[in-house]
Amino acid sequence: MLKFDTITDLNNHLEKLRKDGFKIGFIPTMGALHRGHLSLIERAKQDKVITVCSIFVNPTQFTNANDLKNYPRTMDADSSLLDGANCDILFAPSVEEIYPHPSKTFYNFGFLETPMEGIHRKGHFNGMATVVNRLFEIVKPDFAYFGEKDFQQLTIVKMLVKMQALPIKIIPCETLREKGGLAMSSRNIHLSSKEKEEALIISQTLFKVKELLPTTPFDELRYWAINNLTKNPNIQLEYFEIADAETLKPIKDGITNPDQLNSKIRAFIALKIGQTRLIDNLELN
Ligand code: AMP
Repeated sequence: MLKFDTITDLNNHLEKLRKDGFKIGFIPTMGALHRGHLSLIERAKQDKVITVCSIFVNPTQFTNANDLKNYPRTMDADSSLLDGANCDILFAPSVEEIYPHPSKTFYNFGFLETPMEGIHRKGHFNGMATVVNRLFEIVKPDFAYFGEKDFQQLTIVKMLVKMQALPIKIIPCETLREKGGLAMSSRNIHLSSKEKEEALIISQTLFKVKELLPTTPFDELRYWAINNLTKNPNIQLEYFEIADAETLKPIKDGITNPDQLNSKIRAFIALKIGQTRLIDNLELN
């Protein structure tokens, strides 16, 4: 695996590869890599592309200074994992390389940025889109791979590509889970073993909601899920939402038959266990 930390070196290399007819597959990450991230590399490999993984903890998408400071940084281990996964190129730029002049672009993603993470992490998607757009400009990928684990982010990235008319195909990748169902996340290393047990309630609730959906009205389902998620005083629920998978508009109460819906719907959860914020979601139909 080749490793670059400057835009110029990366560009020089990618330019040669493009001239030789190679397609570029891009996997942006913030590091602290786990098997979930590596599954994105594996997915990209299926497309026979040159895989470029970036590791950049993007300050403009953090809405809490402590969260940014405490975000796990494990570059040496990350580099070995990527090497082991046969990633072709690691791009690990400094903050100055990405933001030579501290700047943020302001996007309007309409309703997509208002619910869920939009309420609880104000400004997060603008910062995320700023860096993703910057990285897209630098890497100029043909394909870019994003996890469904961050489903609202994935939806907004698709919108970004549409709005900017970028020639990039966004490939959604399924969420990889631990054996018990907990979605893999860089933040899981902050969980004690007791908290990791407690965190199982997230995926258990999502899968139970999926199971109950064909026989239960939405308002009852929501009531049950919220109750289930708030039983443990160590858990602070931020939101439980059932929403349209394209528009992210909440599904209204009163719909009793999922067949009344033509589109895909998903359930979304965000909560804190102790100090650790976790999110997850699942397709329901
Ligand atoms: P992050 O480093 O958390 O910004 O994540 C980088 C990419 O990996 C994003 O597209 C995430 O959605 C994706 N990702 C994170 N966790 C998982 C997981 N458990 N399964 C699949 N993709 C994931």
